Amino acid sequence: MLGVLLFNCLTFNMIESVPNSIPKPSLDEQYMRIAIDQARIAEENGDVPIGAVIIRNGQIIAKAYNQREQLQDPTAHAEIIALTQAAAALENWHLNGCTMYVTLEPCCMCAGALVLARIDRLVYGRDDPKTGAIKSLYNIVQDKHLNHRVEVTSGVLADECGALLQDFFTRRRNENKNNQ
Ligand SMILES: [Zn+2]
Repeated sequence: MLGVLLFNCLTFNMIESVPNSIPKPSLDEQYMRIAIDQARIAEENGDVPIGAVIIRNGQIIAKAYNQREQLQDPTAHAEIIALTQAAAALENWHLNGCTMYVTLEPCCMCAGALVLARIDRLVYGRDDPKTGAIKSLYNIVQDKHLNHRVEVTSGVLADECGALLQDFFTRRRNENKNNQ
């Protein structure tokens, strides 16, 4: 009985101590929003909306978006362009100490490039069950056969990152239908 009373008392106190204010977005969410803004630029150019940002010591050193259609280049994924920018900014291909934020789970090419760049951490939004190489199809960035492993956080603003893609493909399907 005393135990129940104590438990009730503790639960009550815990509920009481929850602040009323809306929680502040985490740093990961703040950087992911910048990646989402980049994805929107891709969309304006007719490319699949995927955006990426790289930070080091709290500073943004690269911002990029998917440019595959715009450049007619199969390797012009947001992540690859961001890695090139970051290496140029640091004048060093070793991107240790850096974190990449990207709206969609990276593909095999980009996951491989993250390992080659020796990046510390990857934060991504939406899983990609069709081509994802971080957990959906493979886990290239944490493969024990390779000489570098990347810390991964997934699912940051996943709904917003996914909605961007869904809206894009819905619009494209409708445009195709209207053109038939
Ligand atoms: Zn890719």
